[in-house]
Amino acid sequence: MRGVIMHGPGDVRVEEREHPVIVEPTDAIIKLAASCICGSDLWPYRGADEVDGAPMGHEYVGVVTEIGDAVTTVKPGDFVVGSFMASDNTCEICRAGYQSRCVHVVPMGRVGTQAEYARIPLADGTLVATPGQPDEDLIPSLLAASDVLGTGWFAAVAAEAGPGRTVAVVGDGAVGLLGILAAKQLGAERIIAMSRHADRQELARRFGATDIVDERGDAGVERVKELTDGLGAHSVIEAVGTQESMMQAIRSTRHGGHVGFVGVSHDVELPGGELFGSMVHLHGGPAPVRRFLPELIQLIWDRKIDPGVVFDLTLPLAEAAEGYRAMDERRATKVLLTV
Ligand SMILES: [Zn+2]
Repeated sequence: MRGVIMHGPGDVRVEEREHPVIVEPTDAIIKLAASCICGSDLWPYRGADEVDGAPMGHEYVGVVTEIGDAVTTVKPGDFVVGSFMASDNTCEICRAGYQSRCVHVVPMGRVGTQAEYARIPLADGTLVATPGQPDEDLIPSLLAASDVLGTGWFAAVAAEAGPGRTVAVVGDGAVGLLGILAAKQLGAERIIAMSRHADRQELARRFGATDIVDERGDAGVERVKELTDGLGAHSVIEAVGTQESMMQAIRSTRHGGHVGFVGVSHDVELPGGELFGSMVHLHGGPAPVRRFLPELIQLIWDRKIDPGVVFDLTLPLAEAAEGYRAMDERRATKVLLTV
């Protein structure tokens, strides 16, 4: 089968890989219906993370082709969605809703789902079957649930977005944009999108942003304060992962407010004194997408949300290298790979 391998920064190739087989009785094999390139795949692509011949991809939807002897909740033929972290969904951490830190967690990036087939470990805990075979036009949205929607949703929940709250969102990539959608669904009264790109501002408004701030850093913080009677937002979503974005998020939050941070942290160091004075709640990390999957799948199935519109470029798997280039050069927000 064909799959994406990253040989080094900027060097992505679609190559012949071993067809996956059942290794553990808890495994399932799926035939991918679609996969995609994640903003976090750009870290190694740009040389910020080490990479040397790694299979790529951790987002996936597809049809089960084979299951191990111990698998009971999905069967061959089921259309399934899973999270970017495989989890047993039974340990204490999972039951508390933190499946991305399951005691048996397997990061799906290690499997590499930018491929025709993938082995899904811990299939019972990881995969959620859709109510039936989806219409073709639902596939991008279901794929979004696998990571970017689930991550944006967790960020909004971690930031305690809800009725009566003003939510600010730092980062206008796919996760930030879907954090806006999540905040809106959770009932937020006002949503401030921090973005300086016209096309992303438009999508932000479509998803529910009421205000746009195009300043960054301290100027962006000032603007959020002006919009909130000098207090800052109740809830702030951080969806970038840099020092600047994290501090922008913390400083945009009012005393007693909540920051939900989901941008993969790169060299972020928090100043203790400022944090002490800020009196904000910080909660974040790799999103436990599995917690939200049943609800998100139903919202998509019922056509109540349309997160798939974040995909603004669709390419066949064979052209994955062009997809990476397009995202790296910001010609695309999110690239869907058809398999
Ligand atoms: Zn677990």
